[in-house]
Amino acid sequence: MKVSKFGGSSVSDAKQIKKVLDIVNEDPERKIIIVSAPGKRHKDDIKTTDLLIRLYEKIQNNLDYQSKKKEIIQRYADIVNGLNMDDAILTTIDETLELYIEQLSDKPPRLYDALLSCGENFNAQLIAIFNNSQGTPTRYVSPKEACLIVTDLPQQAQILDSSYTDIYKLRNYKEKLIIPGFFGVSQQNYIVTFPRGGSDITGAIIARSVRASLYENFTDVSGIYKANPNIINHPELIEEITYREMRELSYAGFSVFHDEALQPLYKDRIPVVIKNTNRPNDKGTYILHDREIDSNKVISGISCDKGFTVINIKKYLMNRIVGFTTKILGVLEEFNISFDHIPSGIDNISIIMRTNQINGKESQVLNEIRKRCKVDELSIDNDLAILMIVGEGMNQVVGTASKITHALSESNINLIMINQGASEISMMFGIREEDAEKAVLSTYEFCYHGVCLKNLCQ
Ligand code: ASP
Repeated sequence: MKVSKFGGSSVSDAKQIKKVLDIVNEDPERKIIIVSAPGKRHKDDIKTTDLLIRLYEKIQNNLDYQSKKKEIIQRYADIVNGLNMDDAILTTIDETLELYIEQLSDKPPRLYDALLSCGENFNAQLIAIFNNSQGTPTRYVSPKEACLIVTDLPQQAQILDSSYTDIYKLRNYKEKLIIPGFFGVSQQNYIVTFPRGGSDITGAIIARSVRASLYENFTDVSGIYKANPNIINHPELIEEITYREMRELSYAGFSVFHDEALQPLYKDRIPVVIKNTNRPNDKGTYILHDREIDSNKVISGISCDKGFTVINIKKYLMNRIVGFTTKILGVLEEFNISFDHIPSGIDNISIIMRTNQINGKESQVLNEIRKRCKVDELSIDNDLAILMIVGEGMNQVVGTASKITHALSESNINLIMINQGASEISMMFGIREEDAEKAVLSTYEFCYHGVCLKNLCQ
């Protein structure tokens, strides 16, 4: 049995939904289908989920929300008309939105989650009704009926362990099942959403629960590129990648697959394939537990993300002071800041974190560190990008770091820091944000094609 998830652009209008159902109906193993809310139909379009956020904001600010609600219903009306369906469902959509608004206006975080869930929930119902009417027995299953029971903290749903066993019973249905992604129901009976892009997480939970032979994640690209296609012209596609590599790449900006979706899959080694709804015969990228290493091609992918901050601390004889790092980390904990890397030397330590973690608290945090740790020097730098070079084979092959540093130095990029984790599947380079694009371009061209950026520019 396969579990297939279709992202927002795959279910954005009637034409796309027909493509999805052709894919679903042609393979009897595609039994459980997870759908997103209608996404963008073109570059300047607005996702239904974002329209729902705007609806929520209108309600919260006591503004007239009727036209925003109409705009949302119109997205579904376009689909209903395009599929020649009975438009009775539009009345249900309107009534459901009004019901949530009436019942939950005094509980804003609950209203927010309930409204956001509507994007996928209406789409799933509509798609199930349509596919059934076309002669394929199909059934809509709500997350509650599927036993997708989650923790109760709004917008941060986490699946309860017991749900995995309960969801298994989905295997018993004879029909094709259409399940909305992105949300579950808590034991307190509230709708709770996963983080944005969370339909991938729903798909992963269900794939693991039913012990799927494959989790297919359909989107609008034919797999995962080796580097950002907005920087590299037609980058190569990755054929196979491990969960660990995927996690490292998504950390630094690869957003094709939600990183929280890897966790349920990893445990039971459910393979994932990223495929293109518009080109379903393309092979796609497989995300697996293990893969064969080709020592000539050790680098799987190159990613780079901006928006990092580094705190640099110097303290003479730091290596001999017991508990020094604990004190610094204690300050971060007090300010509820999570950090990502701590490269250190004998007399210095740097703490790297996402800028949004420390934004607005910089001076308080620095004052506290100064006070508690009696440091010699302290500085903060807000303009850091992280370049990640990822590949399982790096621990078996000599010279990868030298290739990368060569490519970067030829492009005149200053390395602020270098860090290689113990797992040796990634190397991290701290660079200036302004160098981010150039760094991806130069490492990609040199590592994959042996071409120096200096020569490219000539
Ligand atoms: N519709 C939600 C979002 O836009 C979840 C998803 O599409 O995966 O974030």
